[in-house]
Amino acid sequence: MQKTIKECNLCSACNDVCPVTTALKRETSSPRHKAKLIQEGKLALIFYQCSLCKACSDACPSKVPLDAIIQQEREKIIKKGVVPNAVAEMRENIRKTGFPLRKEGLVLVA
Ligand code: SF4
Ligand code: SF4
Repeated sequence: MQKTIKECNLCSACNDVCPVTTALKRETSSPRHKAKLIQEGKLALIFYQCSLCKACSDACPSKVPLDAIIQQEREKIIKKGVVPNAVAEMRENIRKTGFPLRKEGLVLVA
């Protein structure tokens, strides 16, 4: 059976492999911190500071599928009607052009 966030013991093994933590060097951006927020039932836009690369899940000694859990938390945020600016911009770009990334004046050739 798939493990849940309850089985995270906050060991922080995931922090060592997370590219976001490596780049930002902040505990508050780390997977361990995200796991703690999820255990506390808190929704936070910090869940968008994650590339869903799955490195945390692969490294987790407790086999917690943290990347999938973070994705589920994002779905909860969207269902509450909160859309981070970058996501709103990407959605608008897709609606207008069919592409997620669009710079003014840039012509994309499919
Ligand atoms: S998700 Fe896994 S590796 Fe990360 S803190 Fe929890 S138990 Fe440790
Ligand atoms: S899935 Fe997200 S939290 Fe996990 S290692 Fe990758 S960027 Fe970090």
